[in-house]
Amino acid sequence: MRGKMMTTPLTITEIMRFADRHHGRTEVVSITADQPLHRCTFNDVFRRARQLANALSRLGIAPGERVASLAWNDYRHLELYYGVACAGRVLHTVNPRLFAEQLVYIINHAEDRVLFFDVAFLPLVEALADKLSTVDAYVILTPADKLPGSSLSALQSYESLLEAETDEYQWPVLDENDANLLCYTSGTTGNPKGVLYSHRSTVLHAYASCMPDAMRLSQQDTVLPVVPMFHVNAWGTPYACAMIGAKMVLPGPKMADGETLQRLIEQEEVTIALGVPTVWLALLAYLRDSGKTVPSLERTVVGGAACPPSVMEEFEQKHGVRTHHAWGMTEMSPLGTVNSPLRGMESLSAAEKDAVRLKQGRGIFGVDMKIVGDDGEELPWDGEAFGNLKVKGWWVCDGYFGEDGNSGAHDEDGWFATGDVATIDPLGFMQITDRTKDVIKSGGEWISSIELENLAVAHPDVAEAAVIGISHEKWTERPLLIVVPEEGTSPDKAELVAWFKGKVADWWIPDDVVLVDELPHTATGKISKVMLRKQFADYSSQS
Ligand code: ADP
Repeated sequence: MRGKMMTTPLTITEIMRFADRHHGRTEVVSITADQPLHRCTFNDVFRRARQLANALSRLGIAPGERVASLAWNDYRHLELYYGVACAGRVLHTVNPRLFAEQLVYIINHAEDRVLFFDVAFLPLVEALADKLSTVDAYVILTPADKLPGSSLSALQSYESLLEAETDEYQWPVLDENDANLLCYTSGTTGNPKGVLYSHRSTVLHAYASCMPDAMRLSQQDTVLPVVPMFHVNAWGTPYACAMIGAKMVLPGPKMADGETLQRLIEQEEVTIALGVPTVWLALLAYLRDSGKTVPSLERTVVGGAACPPSVMEEFEQKHGVRTHHAWGMTEMSPLGTVNSPLRGMESLSAAEKDAVRLKQGRGIFGVDMKIVGDDGEELPWDGEAFGNLKVKGWWVCDGYFGEDGNSGAHDEDGWFATGDVATIDPLGFMQITDRTKDVIKSGGEWISSIELENLAVAHPDVAEAAVIGISHEKWTERPLLIVVPEEGTSPDKAELVAWFKGKVADWWIPDDVVLVDELPHTATGKISKVMLRKQFADYSSQS
């Protein structure tokens, strides 16, 4: 027997409609290339989204077709999130940090029809335009009087595009499984793959991310997403904030600028900020140097890469900011786990609490997880066994855009292999020890590069660190520590090696240290182990 309840489709149009009626006056504050500080409300954003939807029809974009954005976090990008997707088109958020060939590949692969971009990306777009076979309109996210001269034909200003339209628009009724947004993984090996989110997966993810043991978002919050809107939809914050009516503060091109972040936090009274560890290193360094503070900030959500304990400690001890470690990936919309304390943990010692907080967190209803051995058998949740981490849930991809059949990442029961290696403890806290391809295998045993990196960056003279496996005749692989020293220091290698003594098993301790000026990073701001392995391919271990 079927229940007799309403079956309104789960679409982000519903989030928009609700926010327009209930949270319409909530502010959205942005920095943009043409405005040092712009203020508007959700009502304004959705009004302009209706104008945008009319413009898409005028541009001849059919339902289901892709519209690309190459833009930082600001209100215009937010208008694209809703205006494009609620009109039944698909927003393809393009990561400007990808290599030129990858950009050409993904824009052609997605068959994008229009490209909306920030003025700063004009030289990049001009250099690519000849190779973009499906794009026939280019729109710069700026007013007409700021439109720069360009070799591009079919170039127009976003503001004049909107001005030509009315703000009356009848949003179509969409199927909840229709696509709303397309985001490519950075493709560290092979071509990037397109993850195609649906309205339904996005709504469910937004609900879950607001839950108290997840990101605990409320209309009382002022949210600063420092994670880009071109990378896994800024961890879903554009939907979650509209759903619950939280004020948004969008830093535009000033994402990794400690000074701007501090100013925004102080002026706008930000309560929660989200981003990858690199961003927080920049903010903390600025706070240290300037003596400024972040009094309104209650918590940060840190993910995308393992959060060094020193970051958590400095936030907590010096600024009273609680750090929640979180884990996820593009294929998971991205939220998989968040670290929130469990009942009963108050009685743990400070050291025990710290050890738990370093873990990536517990499951959130909506995504299940398990660890399996190489034979595919599930491993125990004992905090010791390392295994390949698999997930299953409503906001996990079940294939890639434009690819038919099994991606190779899904097993016959539908579990998706994340490519991460993890332990899960008896209380359900998952801890990433490595990416499958970064694990160091020494004498038949696994060494966690993440754990060694965390320890290394806790050393006062280490600004950034990476550990990779170097081939070794006897042990197969041995860990090599590669360090970017803190400015003005030149740490002694023997002293750095000695730093690990007593903190990990002796056989985990790196045999050698290399000091470098900088480490290579991927398009999503993570240390590129692939490049490091290439760079150090001929390196021979000293012991
Ligand atoms: P890419 O970096 O390839 O663009 P994602 O942003 O989807 O892709 O990265 C997801 C990966 O980032 C995860 O599979 C995991 O390896 C890593 N990751 C994410 N969060 C954490 C975390 N808190 N700790 C350690 N690794 C993390």
